[in-house]
Amino acid sequence: MAVLIRVGNSEGERRCDERCYNATTSHCDCCCNGMNHGKGRQQAEANTAKAGREMLQRWIGKHPEFKESVFSTVTQLGFFDSVSFDDRGNPIDTK
Ligand SMILES: [Zn+2]
Repeated sequence: MAVLIRVGNSEGERRCDERCYNATTSHCDCCCNGMNHGKGRQQAEANTAKAGREMLQRWIGKHPEFKESVFSTVTQLGFFDSVSFDDRGNPIDTK
């Protein structure tokens, strides 16, 4: 079972997995807030990657001092392959 999103705190953990992206009913109480509900795995992965890139871009925009270390980490992980930076150091989405 591929878990696309996992969030947790001291009260427990919530996951977006095949129960969400393969759902055939309209009810959704997933941590993705419906982004991946019933979309199928391929579209759900694309949605999650896009949301991750956008979150990363917003975070780097607020913390530009970490952009190099964040960029090298996400590049190694390969999940945010489309994230790159312009010559002023601003994150850009190449997809
Ligand atoms: Zn979900």
